Amino acid sequence: TRHIAIVGCGQLAQMMAQEGESLGITFSFLAERDEDAGCVEGLGTLVRLEGGDSGEQLYRALGCPEVITAEREQVDVQLLRDLQRFCPVYPDPHVFEKAQHRLREKCALSESGLPVATFMPAQGREALQRALDTVGYPAFIKSCENGYDGKNQWRVKDAAQLREAVEEAQNLPCVVEASVAFSCEVSLIGARSVSGEVKTYPLTENLHRQGTLLLSKAPFSNAQLLARARAYLQKLMDDWDYVGVLSLECFVTDDGLVVNEIAPRVHNSGHWTLAGASTSQFANHLRAILDMPLGETDCPRPAAMVNMLGIDRPPSGNNDGVWLYGKSLRRGRKMGHVLLLDNCDIQLAKRSEAIIADLYQ
Ligand code: ATP
Ligand code: MG
Ligand code: MG
Repeated sequence: TRHIAIVGCGQLAQMMAQEGESLGITFSFLAERDEDAGCVEGLGTLVRLEGGDSGEQLYRALGCPEVITAEREQVDVQLLRDLQRFCPVYPDPHVFEKAQHRLREKCALSESGLPVATFMPAQGREALQRALDTVGYPAFIKSCENGYDGKNQWRVKDAAQLREAVEEAQNLPCVVEASVAFSCEVSLIGARSVSGEVKTYPLTENLHRQGTLLLSKAPFSNAQLLARARAYLQKLMDDWDYVGVLSLECFVTDDGLVVNEIAPRVHNSGHWTLAGASTSQFANHLRAILDMPLGETDCPRPAAMVNMLGIDRPPSGNNDGVWLYGKSLRRGRKMGHVLLLDNCDIQLAKRSEAIIADLYQ
């Protein structure tokens, strides 16, 4: 049997392992010392990082996997490099180095020629003030590190809000970026295998609530924007010699797409592929890193996903599947998601609204 080790043990690792079962893959997981591992219980061996373990010790503890991947961008890049001496790590550690640091990420995106919002690095009160003078209000201040689900970022619309953000950002290295006037947000998820085969899913439209994804709907039908997004994703995959699933988050503006960020992994906005696509993003990630032929990515019926944020009670309304991750309940935490399929876009939108109303009444 084939064996993959995953760094991290949250719901993304869980869904990868569940999807890997039918491919005959076994799994092991590398968790932080105090990371909640409830999601991967019964899905494979759990190894905890205690510090001081060499790459070789960890590689052996993980059961000498054929390949190592990760479910999040906040990973120890040096550790991945140590592990890489024993088996392939996909995507390559240099991708995590970019993805976990907003300034490096923005620079890499621009270097590949992708359109991004005007941005400037800044650290400390004076630099932030100068950056705001250049970028203008409204703007986003984002810490370079530890940003996810809208955390460690501040939208500032005037000088008063800047003062508050400066208080919170303290002396953290940040990126200041212009606020993009968008009509909606979309993401493109694609996979590239070791041999270089690439497949992308349809564009997904994403609605966020307080910086966290609430609702995704696919396909977002716009042939021109899809072609653009595909070209951007392909460019990054080529430039980075990428292997695995890569996700691209974009703003739709009057002038086309502005790229917001990437995720070097399966993405929350692609959970609908579990029911709405011929092959899920999770299965295709595994296929890609094992150099198997990729599965079809077509979307036979429109699909939607509603996140259960801080809610572990399934909705009572009509739906096409509820995934519960088995995590302990915390405010705003991603506890599960609901999937909806419908031949009619309008019906799908209505039903999604009903599920949101039911969950968040
Ligand atoms: P994720 O959970 O997607 O990784 P994150 O913490 O990395 O989130 P971003 O994706 O950069 O943060 O921002 C979260 C949301 O905030 C975006 O989806 C968007 O709605 C809004 N946002 C961020 N930057 C901008 C911007 N420059 N202009 C307009 N809206 C923005
Ligand atoms: Mg992010
Ligand atoms: Mg984002």
